This record gives sequence, structure tokens and C-alpha cells, in this order.
Amino acid sequence: MPLSRRALLQLTGTAAGGLALSQLTQAPARAAKPMAAELKRDLTVCTPPGDVLEALMARNARFSQTWQRLVKEPTPAARMQLKTDIFDEGCQIDPMALEQGQQPWVALLSCADARVAPEYVFASGSGELFQVRCAGNTAFDDAIASLEYAVAVLKVPLIMVLGHSSCGAVKAARGSEPLTPLLEQLVKPIRASLQPGDDLSQAIKGNARFAAAQITQRSAVLRQAQESGQVKIVQGFFDLVTGRVELLKPLAGAS
Ligand SMILES: [Zn+2]
Repeated sequence: MPLSRRALLQLTGTAAGGLALSQLTQAPARAAKPMAAELKRDLTVCTPPGDVLEALMARNARFSQTWQRLVKEPTPAARMQLKTDIFDEGCQIDPMALEQGQQPWVALLSCADARVAPEYVFASGSGELFQVRCAGNTAFDDAIASLEYAVAVLKVPLIMVLGHSSCGAVKAARGSEPLTPLLEQLVKPIRASLQPGDDLSQAIKGNARFAAAQITQRSAVLRQAQESGQVKIVQGFFDLVTGRVELLKPLAGAS
């Protein structure tokens, strides 16, 4: 059974006091105007019918093909044209509809790395991807809270934790260079995911699996949503050279 907003508030203990999610969804001083039916419909126009994970991977396959052509193009003009082609793959939602709300169909927990641009990687437009990003794509508290909002309020049916090749945060976690106190805090969950003998790629994949498992271990809302089938949680690995996303098996013991 899908989680209702009321259920979320009960689970998070915000119904009786504190900051309710309803305060986040609309400005309190502004009277709620009924959304025009056509604008509401337009918010869902990019939501693919059928299996959303299949649709997401198909979008990445289109990006990857274009990306592999792009890196071989010798002239700046040709490369720019290919970039435009990638952008045009994305679905376009009426900005008037976007001003009224959002109805993304996938939530991503991905790295802050400038080489990982989710709208490109999944050939998507504004309003399609709910994104949480930080170096090393770890499941930090605010990330999990954001994903709770995406699932319980926005009814996003799919979460993907996305690691990527040559991830600097995982390199830092594996290294012994001195870090600032806050960076030490950031790499702590990455270090917890490291396995002896793993090379960098294996460590990056292990970190994505670990973060995906953390999401449901630490959030009752997301665990229940997964168990009821309201949301599917997967993990992937983005290859910077090929542009391809590989789906990864979950951590042993995680569903
Ligand atoms: Zn990274």
C-alpha cells in the first residue's frame, strides 16, 4: 500500500509539532490555487509508461551511443552538435506546469563530480529527475530525508544510487592523505564499505551498494515503501569513458 503523507508524518513524528512536510510543499502566505488540469497532465507527460527502470536504462543507452560518437568527433562544431543532440533527447515539460509543481519519475543519489551530469547521462529534461548529490554519493542524513520526501510525497517509484569510475571521494577514502574534519566525516561511510583486496572500481561499486543498503536500513519510511513495492531501489556504476551505466547487484543481505 502506498505511503500517505499522513503516514510519513506519523513515522517521522512531525504531525504534532516541528516542521511539517506540508510547510515545505507550498509557501504558507500563498493561497493554494487549483492547478489547471492541463498543466497537471503536462507534469506527467515525460513519465514513461511501463517499467521505469527499463526506461531509465534505455535513456542511458541512447546517451551512451551519442557520447561515444561525441568523443571521436574532431571539430568543436561537431562536438557541439552532438551535445545538442543529447539535450534534445530529454523530455520537455511546459515551464508553466513546472512552476506549479513537480512529478519526477526517478530519484538519484549520485556524486557531486562535475563529470557526472545526470540530465545528460539519462537524456532527461527539467522536472524528470529528483537529485541528491554529494561527493562519493553517500547516504548521509539529509540525503535520506530528501529521498523520503521524494518517495512519500512526490511518489517517485524508483531510486538509483549511482557511483562512477575514477571517483575522487572513494580514492580519498582509500588513501592516507590528511583530510579536513568535515571531509573525514564525508569519507567515513565510504571507508566502512571498503573490502580488502578490492581495486578502485570494485571499491566504487561496493560503496554504491553500501549506500543503497543504508537507505533502507536507516529509514523506516523507505524500508516500508520498498517492502510494499511502492519504490524500487537499485544501484549503478557510470563509466566516464563509455557513458554507460551498469546495474549492480545489491549488497549481500540487502534486498
Ligand atoms: Zn565521485
